[in-house]
Amino acid sequence: MTKNQIDKDRRRVLAGLGSIAATSMLPQKLSAQNNNDTDIVIIGGGIAGSSTAFHLAEQGHDVILIERGEIASEASGQNMGGLGGSGWGNNPDLLSYLTAGSVEIFKRIQIDMGYDIEFRLSGTLTAIHTDEQYEYYQDDVVSQRNNGYEIELLSAREARSIEPEANGELPGYIYRPQRGQADPVKTTRAFAHAAEVAGAIINTNQNVISITPMSGGGYVIRTESSEYRCQNVVLATGAWCGPVGEMVGIKIPIVPIRGQMWATEPLPTRVLHTIGSTISSYDWSRNNGSDEVTPPNLTHKNGRRMTRHLYGRQRKNGEIIFGGDRESLGYNTTPDPAGIAVNHRHAAEAIPLVANLPIGRSWAGLMPFSLDGSPIIGKIPIRDNLFIVSGLASSGFGRGPMAGKLAADYIHSGNIARVLAESDPARCVTEA
Ligand SMILES: Cc1cc2nc3c(=O)[nH]c(=O)nc-3n(C[C@H](O)[C@H](O)[C@H](O)COP(=O)(O)OP(=O)(O)OC[C@H]3O[C@@H](n4cnc5c(N)ncnc54)[C@H](O)[C@@H]3O)c2cc1C
Repeated sequence: MTKNQIDKDRRRVLAGLGSIAATSMLPQKLSAQNNNDTDIVIIGGGIAGSSTAFHLAEQGHDVILIERGEIASEASGQNMGGLGGSGWGNNPDLLSYLTAGSVEIFKRIQIDMGYDIEFRLSGTLTAIHTDEQYEYYQDDVVSQRNNGYEIELLSAREARSIEPEANGELPGYIYRPQRGQADPVKTTRAFAHAAEVAGAIINTNQNVISITPMSGGGYVIRTESSEYRCQNVVLATGAWCGPVGEMVGIKIPIVPIRGQMWATEPLPTRVLHTIGSTISSYDWSRNNGSDEVTPPNLTHKNGRRMTRHLYGRQRKNGEIIFGGDRESLGYNTTPDPAGIAVNHRHAAEAIPLVANLPIGRSWAGLMPFSLDGSPIIGKIPIRDNLFIVSGLASSGFGRGPMAGKLAADYIHSGNIARVLAESDPARCVTEA
């Protein structure tokens, strides 16, 4: 593909994102939908479903989003709030679209539309712990820079000049200026609110219990208290895609992976960037631990710790928060204090001040990991008018806004963006 063609593709997907669109200036539907019959029902009010609803409503579609709990009541409200990526690169793939594209949408929501989502392009510092890791990442950074990504290798001294609390005893840090942070609950609710302003209906406390195809096309969706009829269904049910898929007789290979986090009490600003560590990515580059029933890049396998993973930041309210463990334990969301203690020590290796800060609270949530580790976004070919936007794993907060836009654009236009080939549900969704 030529550079021109690549730029044209990117411009088409991002069309409209730069325009000034105050919340009050969003298109309002002239006739609000007032019953449970609609064109599109989206199931799931996390970042994936809320972004899809916003981008579909904005393009004039009749949309109802139904959510079992409240908006952002699961992973999308429980995550660290870190945004990944290293810019677009020379030849953007799906990952570049989801990360760099989402950053553009975060900017739009906060700067152009006026929602306070605590978004900041803070950049990320990733601690390198050993000389062996340093050598490996030296080559990796060169290769990523050659591919046009914005990434630098810093000495500990350089890192401490932009993050004074960083550990000066480590061999170095990777700096990615295009990474950022935002508040998970405020962001997800901003998408749902913007969707409502654009004409979507958002119905919470609606637990879907069945999805039945109608003889003339479309679906009937039953919740514990209502019934909806629609032509198209979008599954945005995160770690629950498996059981919800079974309602239509399909097997969606997404498993729940428990992520857990902890927070200090609020304190004055001390940590400026989002913080990571190369220990896990270095270990996963050698063996990602996957097999037929285990997704890649977990910290535990069969109850045993394989590696230590780290992500964290200081929230606007002053809490320093960190997390990292990724374990397959079914739908168990009870935090494990032993794992939290390991993570606390790991965080102190990168930011020594946290060693003496007691843990104020901890929590856990479920990440939607696909078995092959890639997102699942697009049309499910073995059923009519059934779409999915999920499998966003450990990075869905930072990738969800663009995942929702790509899904919405596909449903709106009927044309699949070239980059979505990598996330095609046809590769893995089967009859149950
Ligand atoms: C501790 C932790 C830390 C994380 N840190 C980061 C981070 O720093 N950066 C990052 O990018 N990502 C992070 N993630 C991952 C990110 O949170 C997820 O990838 C993302 O939120 C997934 O969004 P989603 O909309 O697909 O799923 P969810 O947010 O889980 O939303 C799915 C929704 O579907 C609803 N639902 C399910 N079944 C039904 C039903 N039958 N009827 C109606 N509704 C239903 C659920 O109630 C839920 O609200 C983290 C996750 C965790 C748990």
